Amino acid sequence: MVDEKMTFINLNVQQSIWSKLSQLKSNHRIANAYLFSGPRGSGKEAIALKFAAYVNCTVIDEGPCGECASCRRFRSLQHEHLILIVPMPREVKLSGNADVAALLDAIKIKAKNPFYKINLSKAKTIPISHIRKLKRDLYFKLIETGRKIVLIYDAHMLCTGDASSANAILKILEEPPNNTTFILVTDHKADLLPTILSRCQCLDFPTLKRNDVVAYLLSSGIEDYLAQFAANIAEGDMRRALALSDFGKNDILELVKTLKNLITEEHIENWRSFNQNYSRMAKINFHEFEFHLFLLQWWLKQAYFQRVGINNSDVINGMSTDLREFNANFPNADFDKINNIIEETIIAPRKNLYMPLILTNFLIGIQQSLGK
Ligand SMILES: [Zn+2]
Repeated sequence: MVDEKMTFINLNVQQSIWSKLSQLKSNHRIANAYLFSGPRGSGKEAIALKFAAYVNCTVIDEGPCGECASCRRFRSLQHEHLILIVPMPREVKLSGNADVAALLDAIKIKAKNPFYKINLSKAKTIPISHIRKLKRDLYFKLIETGRKIVLIYDAHMLCTGDASSANAILKILEEPPNNTTFILVTDHKADLLPTILSRCQCLDFPTLKRNDVVAYLLSSGIEDYLAQFAANIAEGDMRRALALSDFGKNDILELVKTLKNLITEEHIENWRSFNQNYSRMAKINFHEFEFHLFLLQWWLKQAYFQRVGINNSDVINGMSTDLREFNANFPNADFDKINNIIEETIIAPRKNLYMPLILTNFLIGIQQSLGK
């Protein structure tokens, strides 16, 4: 496989987790249910897919071969033993509507890019109808060879609302049909019911190593300077590193500067358009909203490091003048407080709060914390 783009099949991150998983197969000790948890962008979903392919691969090796009939079907995520469950917008019939079409499109992208996040708009729960259908499928279609793998992404969303989906799945987690393994994947382990946790073997993923992030970006055709730059900011989050690479270095530097000017200058016209634009962005593209605020938060962290004398010169390459200027102008800035304000603003859209008000408070709160 010369020059082939990395997919989950040949993905080479989280080596220590992978060696544990591959031993499970060679020792024939694959459990009924696993929980993969850890920080976002650490490769949990991708490794779960790789494991699913590996368990069903017919060639004996330390990973999925990628070439046997089973692996070939896995590569397009179209394998009869793979059942993928993700949050959906609402209780939908399970075929023939726009949400399902969007899901099928997203699965195609996921097959090519293992770090792509399947994120249907307004998907806030894993509907109980999907769990009921899963039960029927599992018990009525028994299998003779291989192993069925049920992947539940964003599994904490089983527990939204009255947690009826979580309760519905408890029984099958405990006594799944033969040759079936569940892998629940989440960034938010603490949001899962204890009754779910106690039925799963938990694997906690660490943050990705910087070298692994850079290597993956390079293998995806991203230039070296940009891969290094993105890995510096992403702090082990591959999804963020990919988003940063898509943006490009100059655009990132420019965006950070705009946001820095926004919070440090009392410019009413800029504030008004920020309020309008970002209220809209929070509504229609939450990820973009979060990404922008993350960049501001990251930049302020670098300013703090510079203030307390932590040498970070590789990382802040291209930003040091602005950082020095910020610290000279605001020697009494309360970084903790500003950081809290940004954190609260980032999660506000998920709580369906009224964004124009939140963003006004964001600007005023930061102004007050700059210690002018
Ligand atoms: Zn294979």
